[in-house]
Amino acid sequence: MAAVLKKQTTIPPHVVFLPYAMTSHITPLVHIARLFAYHGLRVTIITTPHNALIFQSSIDNDRCLVPGCNISVQTLKFPSYEMGLPDGVENFSACPSLEIAGKVHYGFFVLLQKPMEQLIRNLKPQCIVSDMFFPWTIDLAEELNIPRFSFQTANFFFQCVWHCLREYAPHEKVALDSDDQSFLIPGLPHEIKMKLSEIEDFFFEDNFSRQTYKAVREAELRSQGIIHNTCSELEPEYVDIYENIRGVKGWHVGPTFLFINELEKSQNSNPTCFDDPWKKCGDCLNWLEDQEPNSVLFVCFGSSVRFSNDQLKEIALALNAAKCPFILVAKEQGNKNQLEEKDDNNYGDWWQLDSFKELVVNNKRCFIVKGWAPQVLILEHRAIGGFLTHCGWNSVLEALTMGIPLITWPLFAEQFYNQKLLVLLGLAIEVGSDVWNSGFIVSSPVVSREKIELAIERLMYDSEERKKIRANAKLMAEKVKSSAEEGGSSHSHLIALIEEIKHCATFNSST
Ligand code: UDP
Repeated sequence: MAAVLKKQTTIPPHVVFLPYAMTSHITPLVHIARLFAYHGLRVTIITTPHNALIFQSSIDNDRCLVPGCNISVQTLKFPSYEMGLPDGVENFSACPSLEIAGKVHYGFFVLLQKPMEQLIRNLKPQCIVSDMFFPWTIDLAEELNIPRFSFQTANFFFQCVWHCLREYAPHEKVALDSDDQSFLIPGLPHEIKMKLSEIEDFFFEDNFSRQTYKAVREAELRSQGIIHNTCSELEPEYVDIYENIRGVKGWHVGPTFLFINELEKSQNSNPTCFDDPWKKCGDCLNWLEDQEPNSVLFVCFGSSVRFSNDQLKEIALALNAAKCPFILVAKEQGNKNQLEEKDDNNYGDWWQLDSFKELVVNNKRCFIVKGWAPQVLILEHRAIGGFLTHCGWNSVLEALTMGIPLITWPLFAEQFYNQKLLVLLGLAIEVGSDVWNSGFIVSSPVVSREKIELAIERLMYDSEERKKIRANAKLMAEKVKSSAEEGGSSHSHLIALIEEIKHCATFNSST
């Protein structure tokens, strides 16, 4: 069980937090903000109104339930009008196309910079904790002579592979016409192979993403340090390697949700609502109550993935053919370029397939969640036996903490690296996707129903392979949970980080 952090009484330094426009970035950073506040720091989270809705109720709860908890949210109007966007489109999960996501990014990255700077100046904080995607916060921190910490959502393994790709460029030596175009990543303690199709486009061209990551890296090197949502119990070899190449001090405090879960349980507050912007928890948990232990496959692809209708049909057919019960989280697909009225058609017509409809209508062995699922609560349920995931790092951490083995279907961002780590640790079966997408709109080749069904069979049906993966997952859960206990790596780093901020504030006020 994670150790509940004990509140201390000191003159609290004021820390401002700047989360980015993605739920998967907002959630863990807000967790850290809440842990800081619980631990006696004064905290202000700066965001836009619709993103604030994701976590406002948790902040209100903390203010009510945790004596002396000094945390608040300040919102700045998102420049929707200037970007030609309707009200409320401020987060990637509300974007039906990459073009619209690009506008949301521009709104945050460029148009909100001045108002954010002004607000931070007015607040006069002693420290800035900024999402990595706001590299400009380092200039402001230097001007105000306060420390800036960068928040990175991903793991060390991925950072190490990235480093080796940059350093040794093994991908540049692969013949483009070789059969599977796979290559070994040099400089790592394990034999990790990747395909050219699995790595990001910016390793081959100098594009906007490469420029963005360059700015992120430069800002990090001038920062007080980097905060990571991972733990050394999970990837011990890579902590040490990354420590040597990072170039700046680092703290790992993950899985952040684990601390928060324990905190909320100790307060007797309702942990169901955190992470859950639309707060629809009920029915699928009731349905799970009627299922056998470890029997249900949970199928969810994060907060923003949008598959083609053809791909959704293959998923539906595979789930129909596989014989295990499942929960499928269906997201609105929308029109590729427009923001439409919301109706059932926005989910695509895959669920109208005759065979699948029969399953859904009779609610026999499946439960469809349309929209937002209470993922952490679902994964925590004893009936869940596997998770078909796109390998978003938050989803991976949540599953590993609960001891759930995975079927990996990486799609974009650093998800292919996450898959390599999971396979290396013996925690997952690959579905067989091998083409990286430049964003959450999936345009990679359709993965066939046969491949999906085979992966489900391997993970969910009794076999030696399943037994081994399940045993590994249980063992990993123990290790990950121990990281948040007193003496565990993440617990120690969290305390050390808070002390560092207090120390910087004291030092700055005395000079
Ligand atoms: N999530 C959820 N319900 C959903 C979809 C996602 O609670 O229906 C949460 C999930 O628990 C995780 C986050 O949203 O905390 C998704 O983050 P991840 O890094 O896995 O993927 P991304 O959203 O970046 O693709």
